[in-house]
Amino acid sequence: MNELNLLFLGPPGAGKGTQAGRLVEQFDLPYYATGDILRAAVKEESELGQRAKEYMDRGDLVPDELIIEVIMEHVDSGEAEDGFLLDGFPRTVGQAEALDSGLDRLGRRLTAALVLEATDDEVVRRLSGRRICEENGHLFHVELDPPEKEGVCDRDGSKLTQRSDDEPDKVKHRLGEYHEKTEPLVEHYDDKGLVHRFDAERSADDVADHISKTLRTLRLEDEA
Ligand code: AMP
Repeated sequence: MNELNLLFLGPPGAGKGTQAGRLVEQFDLPYYATGDILRAAVKEESELGQRAKEYMDRGDLVPDELIIEVIMEHVDSGEAEDGFLLDGFPRTVGQAEALDSGLDRLGRRLTAALVLEATDDEVVRRLSGRRICEENGHLFHVELDPPEKEGVCDRDGSKLTQRSDDEPDKVKHRLGEYHEKTEPLVEHYDDKGLVHRFDAERSADDVADHISKTLRTLRLEDEA
């Protein structure tokens, strides 16, 4: 089988986590979301978590060196040998270059950078209503995708909370970080012919459909 080595790019709130959940099931890929990995480290109070917390609380990116090694260990693990899906990494040109050279050393290459496009206004609307389940990170939205019972996860019954960095002033700051540091990566991957763009303001089903068609085509091209 051909490897599917994928990453998502797009502002916070564009629906990367939602789309990833579908792709992972459909294509049986391990999913590595650096935000989830870092939040788990903060909860466990591990060394990584203790160092990352102050940056995350401010909505700043954590320093490259904190995250690059963690993600490369995942990419180089046995479960990722047929492919992987990265979400939230890379977020800076430095991280992208580290990923490129790390994959090179392993004799692998990226298959595609999936870019989810959404305007700042839409992102703010989505993030301000987003709720996340404490136990497993399942996502809901107070207006767009409300749980059956307010404040309770439909899937595992745990409490739904708002991420502290989804509060409005933090969201603006995170968007600033995205435009300044992460958006340039679209060009970085476009130069390599890896970019596929999706209109993330369409329904989650439409976006999922479009992504999965694109990936099936890429796989067929690879086999040809
Ligand atoms: P996310 O869940 O992807 O929105 O990430 C939440 C927070 O984790 C971000 O605001 C950053 O503080 C931190 N973070 C996640 N991924 C990275 C990364 N690749 N580089 C730097 N910081 C990150």
